This record gives sequence, structure tokens and C-alpha cells, in this order.
Amino acid sequence: MEEASSSDAPAADPFFCVGEKFSSFCDLEKKIKNFEGVHLVQLTRRDSRTLEAAAKRVPNRVIGAHAELKYYEVQYCCHFGGHVYKKNGSGNRIHQSTVKQGCQAGLKAVLSKDKKYLEVTHFSNEHNHIVSKAVYDHLPRQRRLATEESNKVKSLLHVQANKKLIQQHIAKTTGKVVTLKDLSNVRAQMEIKSGDHNELEILVKELSEIEGATVKLFHDEKSELSGIFFQDNVMKCAFKGYPEVLMVDATYKLNKFRMPLYVLLVIDGNGLSEIVAIFLTTLETEDAITKMVCSFKTYNSSWINTRVVMSDKDFVERTVFQREFPSSSLIICLFHTLRTFRREVTCEKLNLRSGERDHALELIEKLVYAKSEEEYDQNHELLIDCGLRNVIDYYNANWHPIREQWVECFKGSNLTLGETTNNRLESINAKIKSVCTRYATLPTFFRHFFALLSCLRNERNHITVMDLVKRKIVCESSPVKQYAEFVTPYAFRYIQQQSSTEYGPDEFFVETEDSSLFSFMSSEGRLLLSARHCCCKFWSSMNLPCRHILSLRKKLGLPLFSEEIVAERWKRSYLQHVYDVKSTEAESENSLQIVAIATETVARTLSQHEKYRKALTVSQKLASLASEVGMSEFSERLKVMMDLEEAWLQGKKPEIIFSHTTIESEDSPDVCSTEVVVPSCGPSVQEDSHQPLEHNEPVLHSTENIKLPPILKKRGRPKGHEKTVIGLPSKRLKRKTGGVSPLPFLKKHPVEREKIILSWLVEAEM
Ligand SMILES: [Zn+2]
Ligand SMILES: [Zn+2]
Repeated sequence: MEEASSSDAPAADPFFCVGEKFSSFCDLEKKIKNFEGVHLVQLTRRDSRTLEAAAKRVPNRVIGAHAELKYYEVQYCCHFGGHVYKKNGSGNRIHQSTVKQGCQAGLKAVLSKDKKYLEVTHFSNEHNHIVSKAVYDHLPRQRRLATEESNKVKSLLHVQANKKLIQQHIAKTTGKVVTLKDLSNVRAQMEIKSGDHNELEILVKELSEIEGATVKLFHDEKSELSGIFFQDNVMKCAFKGYPEVLMVDATYKLNKFRMPLYVLLVIDGNGLSEIVAIFLTTLETEDAITKMVCSFKTYNSSWINTRVVMSDKDFVERTVFQREFPSSSLIICLFHTLRTFRREVTCEKLNLRSGERDHALELIEKLVYAKSEEEYDQNHELLIDCGLRNVIDYYNANWHPIREQWVECFKGSNLTLGETTNNRLESINAKIKSVCTRYATLPTFFRHFFALLSCLRNERNHITVMDLVKRKIVCESSPVKQYAEFVTPYAFRYIQQQSSTEYGPDEFFVETEDSSLFSFMSSEGRLLLSARHCCCKFWSSMNLPCRHILSLRKKLGLPLFSEEIVAERWKRSYLQHVYDVKSTEAESENSLQIVAIATETVARTLSQHEKYRKALTVSQKLASLASEVGMSEFSERLKVMMDLEEAWLQGKKPEIIFSHTTIESEDSPDVCSTEVVVPSCGPSVQEDSHQPLEHNEPVLHSTENIKLPPILKKRGRPKGHEKTVIGLPSKRLKRKTGGVSPLPFLKKHPVEREKIILSWLVEAEM
């Protein structure tokens, strides 16, 4: 029919009238689609009967009909059609809504009598609701993305693009309205598909594909995963090449098990940071960290060459490194030192007035930056003279005994490579945090981490390669220009600085008769030096020619350039060597070691000192916990502690019994941990704390039996999350404790779901 064919023309207003005929179902669909777009109505097919279905019931009326017609009877209804939903429930679900509101608009077409057409028998475009472009665009069918579009969105989400910007992008390119929730759903779908169900299996499989990787899985006596140690070939080579300074720090909240990530970092010959090992551990106990550090030592024999370990003022971590790296000195990051003082020397904690606090901090700051031992002693006396008893006690107990680890002048005498802070590590941590999403699954975390790692290595490669092939342009008159060819650009910058400084010593005093040893006066006091060695801070921290040596060599008529006064690590040739080894060995070697080791379960006898230290950490925690709460609760907590002290003094054995409410609170694990101290028996005779740990470890070679640790809940709003802003108990919490809300069917455990379905079919015997 002409009418039917003319409907294909796009210019005509696509409107239907009763009696209109279509020679194929396709034509009808096409026109409906056109109609929908123009009139902003969404029609849904409903109550239809195909030709095959009709052939069974009314064969005579269908015989001879063309297959292209497809339907004997087809009906389209407005999206808002259908019966209004009548609610029968108890009224608890208050957020339900429906689009069905009985809109009568729609279209019906049946097979015509001559069996050649689909004929429109009913049509209405009268709606009982708003018809607008906005409504039309926001309906699910219009929001749905085509396969190609959705693939693009998936790839964008995969690289963690911002959802708001993706939304904008879709709106611009396709004109579709997509909500943020839609995008979240796409991501959730991706995560289900990627199948992180058996995390550990996937993790092990993925890690095993990395060349030359060393993976060590640790589990505890309940065969729960307690730690992962990871190192690949590039990391091993980097540490082998540059083991002098090791930086250690932990980052938190990077996976859903809340296992802190420890990153070990070194500085290469060109002054670039290089990650040399990482480990995750559930427990931050001395034992757990010792295991990790021991693993590190096992796989990296050059740990013996480590001169300096830099960390923040974390008690456990420092104890372990001090014990495990006996030949290296431990240094506390300057930034963390200052921050700890700011946090600890406060009016509340040390009972000071604000003026006194500022005065104390001023004195302490001078101590931190003391340039020489004399200066330190002077300032220490000043601090003692200030008469602030609490500050002095705190300082003398915690800081004075370990002054070698944090005072500038003592730190400077170590080979620190000019580093005073852990800022390199902080910067790496910030980068890790920017790539790794919070509370990720373990495989996701490692995937993201490796992505970052290859990015960092890429950057490092670029800089190193460019620095190695390029030639530094040095002023011809520069006295140290020969070094430019010999050392890395990073080291050369330091030498240049030293040579150009005007403050070289004016005169040298001969110390020995053969004129090999000299001395000079500096701000650090009277220092000794020879043509190859100097006692100044720069020389000892960098092992590069300092201004004193350069000045002396000039005076003695020796050439300023000498290979002997440059440490091996700064040489270009060495950098190239380490760099070559890194890039070739990574390809050749392909070994994987997965060792599952149970953490020590036998409680060994602690020495009195160790017990004291252990008890101290707990009691410090107790003190800070007690001080965090309001005054009334504080008095209660203080009383508990005083009761305990009283009981112990009298030799009683008190037991802590928790009332119902405290068990549910988050603090209970901490409180329970005090019991570690309670059952310790009298001072032990033998001190076997240094026994090697490797021997008594049962070694397993499969990961099958290892369980994952429990997922820890996100802890937002640490303070007062149980209260509303004004301070009244929050309603949500009330409801939670009042009645147990039913879990939606879909969120139930699969086994439970199966049981429910089974119970519909069989008697409830199980
Ligand atoms: Zn309608
Ligand atoms: Zn010097």
C-alpha cells in the first residue's frame, strides 16, 4: 500500500491512524521508533501473539500469512501504562515508587483479513502524565549505552577516570543522559566479571607471572593470611647496587584487609628513588615485622652493606631494624621528629601553659638542629634549666638516650647521602595512594601497584638513559670539570656546589710530620682531613669531595680530580653497570618462590627488658585511649587502671570481665591485648631473644589451606559517629540496636539463598 511505504519518509510526521497497514513487522517497528523520537513517548511491546503461536490456536486465520509479518497480534503500550501498583505490605518500605499509572496511550495491530498486512486497529496518543524531552531522556531505555559506547566507558572506568567527567563526555558525544549510579553499576559489573572471588588464588597466579619475582606468603596458626612479602628482579638488583641507605615507612588503608603496606626504598647513583621491596602484614607486631625483615635479608645478601636505616619514630619498626641491621645506624626522619614533638609536647599531655609549651618547643627545635655536640649539650642544659619538670622528664626518658638517631649533628656523621627526611618515601606513598584505590581487593591492589611501579620505572629509565647519553655542559674554567665525565649529574651538582663555595677554610694546620694529616677550624669545631679524606659532615654523608679536600689539594698542588675521592656508587660507569644488569637479568631469570610460613605460635620466654617494652607500648596506648574520652568516662577508665595497679601491687591476679556493651565496641581488641601482659610469669632466667627464627618454621608449599584475614570495616568518622551533629544519639544506631533489619535476599550468602530456595521445594528437615 502507498500509505505504508510513505511512512518511511522521515519528513512526514510519524502518526498512526486506525486502519493503517504495514507489509512487514520491520516497517511497523521502524515507524514506531520514529514516532517515539518525535513525540517523546516510549512504547513497550506487550500482550502479543506470534504467527507460530496463533497457528496452534486459530490455524485457519494464519495460513498463508507472510513470515515477515511475524505477529498475528501485537500491542504497544505507553511506558507509563499498566495498573497502578496496590500496596499490601506493612508500610515499612517507604521509598518505593512505580512508573505505572494507567496511561491508556498505545497501539494495537492485528493480521489483516487478507493475511498480507499488519493492520492498526487501535491507536491513542493521549497521556495522563507529563510528556517532555526531559522525561523521555531519563527513561532507562534512552539511558542505555550501545555496546561500543559501553566498552568505551568500561575502558575509561578501568583507568579510574573521574565518573563525573565520563558522564560529561558521554553527554557530549552521544547526547545520552547517564547517571553516576549507572556508571557505578557498570563498574560493579566489571568487578563481578573480573572474578575476585578466590582472591588468594588469583593473586598467586598473577604474581607467579612476574619474572624473577620472590613472593612469600605468611599465615598464622589459624592458617589465616598474615603477610605477603614481594620483591622482583629489578628491586633486587637495585638494592644490590645501592644498599647504603634504606628508607622504611608504612602506608595504610590500601586494601580491604587493612594490611599496612611497608615500602623499602633506596637512592640510586643518580639520586633517584627506587623501591627495593614491599610487604603487607596484618599485624604490626615485632614478631611479624621481624619475619618480613628476615625474608628481606635472606634474599638480599648485600643488606650487610646498609649503613643507614631511616624510618619514622615507630617503636616496633625501629626495634626490629635495630636488631636485624646491627651494623647500620638507625635514623629518625627529621619531619617525623618535629611532628612527634608537636604532638607530644602539648598543654594537655604535659600539663603546660601555652607560653611554656612554646618556650619548650623552641628549645627542643634548637636541639633538633644542633650543629655540633657542644651545641647540643649547651641547649640540653638550657632545657634542663627551664624548670619545666614534665618536659624534661619526657625528653630525658624518650629522646635523650637516642639522640644519635635524630639530632642533626649526630645524624650527619653517617652516610645519609644528604637525606634528612623520609620525604622521598612520602612522595612515593602519595603516588601509590593516587593509583591504588582505598580498600581494594588484594589482586586489584597489586595490579594497581604494578601499574604504578612500571610507570615509576619508565620515568626513571628515561632520566637515567638521557643522563647517560647526554654530555653535561660545564664551564671550561671550572676547576672540577673533569668530574662531569666521571660521576653522575646528580653527584656532579654537589661537587660543583662544593667547589664554588667561598667559605673554604683559610688555613690548614699540619697535624703529622709527614704532612699527610691536616686540621682546620669550622663551624663544627676543629676537624681533621687529608687529601683523600675529611671529617666534615658533607664528606661523611656523601662520600664526595668536599670543599675542604678540594681546597687542600689546591694548596698542596695536587690535581683536583681524583677517582679515589669519589664513592663507587656515584660513578657513571657504576650506574650504567647496575642499570644494564637490571634490564638484562630481568628478562633472563624467571623464578618464582612461593613459600607459606606459619608465624611462630609458641610463646617464647621474654626477657624482663622485652616484657617491659611490650607492657610499655600497651600502657602508652591505654593512656592515650583513656585521655581521648570525656571527663566522666575518663574517671571511670582511670579508676579501672588504678584498681589494676593496686591489685598487682598486692600480688593478686585480677581478671577483666567485660560487660555486654563493651564487647561490641571497637576498642575491645585493644583492651583484650592487655591480657598479653597479665599471664606473664616471673622474670625469666634465659635470654634467648636472638635465636634464629627460620629453624622452627613449618614450611608449606601450597596456598590451598590459607584463608584470608577477616575484612575490616571502613571506619569513617572516628569520633562521635554514634551521635548526630547536635550531640544526640543517632537514629540509625537506635534502629540498628532496636530491631534486626532483614537482609535483602540478594545480599544473603549464596548457601543461605540456596537453602531458602530448597525450602520452597522440600520439607524443612535440613
Ligand atoms: Zn503515557
Ligand atoms: Zn670536608
